[in-house]
Amino acid sequence: MKADAGRKYRAYPTGDQGQVLTGWGHTARALWNVALEQRVYLWEQRRYSLRSGEQCKQLTAARTELDWIGDLPAQTGQQILRSLDHAYDNFWNPEHPARFPARKKRGHRLSIPFPGQAVEVRKLNRHWAEVRLPKLGWLRFRLSRAIGGTIRNATLSRDGNGWHISFGVHTGRKPDAPNGYATCGVDFGVAASAFVSTETTPRLMPPSLTTKEKKRLKALEQRKARQITYAKKHGGGKYGRRLRTTIAQIASLTTRRGNRRRDFTHKLTTDLAKSHGLIGIEDLRVKNMTKSAKGTTKVPGKNVRAKAGLNRSILDNTPGERRRQLEYKARMYGSVLVAVPPFHTSQTCAACGQVDPESRKGCGRLFACTRCGHEDDADHNASVEIEARTRRTGGSEINSTRSIPRVRVPATSRRRMREAPKPAHAS
Ligand SMILES: [Zn+2]
Repeated sequence: MKADAGRKYRAYPTGDQGQVLTGWGHTARALWNVALEQRVYLWEQRRYSLRSGEQCKQLTAARTELDWIGDLPAQTGQQILRSLDHAYDNFWNPEHPARFPARKKRGHRLSIPFPGQAVEVRKLNRHWAEVRLPKLGWLRFRLSRAIGGTIRNATLSRDGNGWHISFGVHTGRKPDAPNGYATCGVDFGVAASAFVSTETTPRLMPPSLTTKEKKRLKALEQRKARQITYAKKHGGGKYGRRLRTTIAQIASLTTRRGNRRRDFTHKLTTDLAKSHGLIGIEDLRVKNMTKSAKGTTKVPGKNVRAKAGLNRSILDNTPGERRRQLEYKARMYGSVLVAVPPFHTSQTCAACGQVDPESRKGCGRLFACTRCGHEDDADHNASVEIEARTRRTGGSEINSTRSIPRVRVPATSRRRMREAPKPAHAS
């Protein structure tokens, strides 16, 4: 019985609980870093791969000797070591884009994992519930939606706007039967967030910060820069209380911005999956698209600033995340997602099929075919072309997107992979 859905709620720890949780969060981070360092060291010195089984035993010993580790609930420590196994497995899996497990820095989002059997949830009323965590007691959270399943794991996390509790839930929901709706092609653009071929206007992401919030963010960034300069000059570079407050205020705003973007993306992908039977998107590699334009010192890149701006807008529109969401939502709502070859979709005429960069003069919004004279919004034209390519596949490449197998790699092949030359994505 695996978790097949996630639920995240805002948690409201009391003052004391908040302090304990912050302490645990940093311990959890330190434990991850120490465990990672130990694995790296053992591999470098003795070509030995340490796994969570052995490290869990060492953890038990360390808990009696070191107070700071002893304070952390035992299950949390074990959960962290197991997720480190997972991070290594993903890195060794050539199909998986994961890089080598990274150290968790101070100022990183704090997170404290628990296995499902260590927690208990009870409902207080329509809007509130509480969860019992080992060594902490009952913690209240806002029940903004029903949990609707068996809890398999729980994670407490802290971001710029406070604490949240998320549950991995087994709902046992069966995917819908094919919904039989229309086919569409979607062009994820930079100017237009998404243009659906069956629609006449683009779906634009609303501004994620209000004008007032943007102004405030800018002022805070300037204050931060000033305070850092001051700290370097007078305090030996030590961050003072005021600087920390500024950093927290910036984090609060950027977290809000991120939440609004995520909200838009989720609504867009849910709507697409629910109202279409076959969805075509371009098979783009986000990493290549957003690669730095800087180039090298020998061969400096062109338009570095412009590319940086473009990168920001591509990442803001998160095509990779949209694709990930479409993959599982299409499966859930009886739709099929197809990734079609992206070559020249913006230069191809959707009416006659002529490929000519001249059809998009000056990179404007208008597409005017040089052969048949077909005129359309450039992004809409691209989405119609994507729809046509989608129809040609006939939905045969069902969810042909990189679905990454979440398997544990056997020890022997792990060793082979590691000794093989590094794959390109790991560098
Ligand atoms: Zn044409």
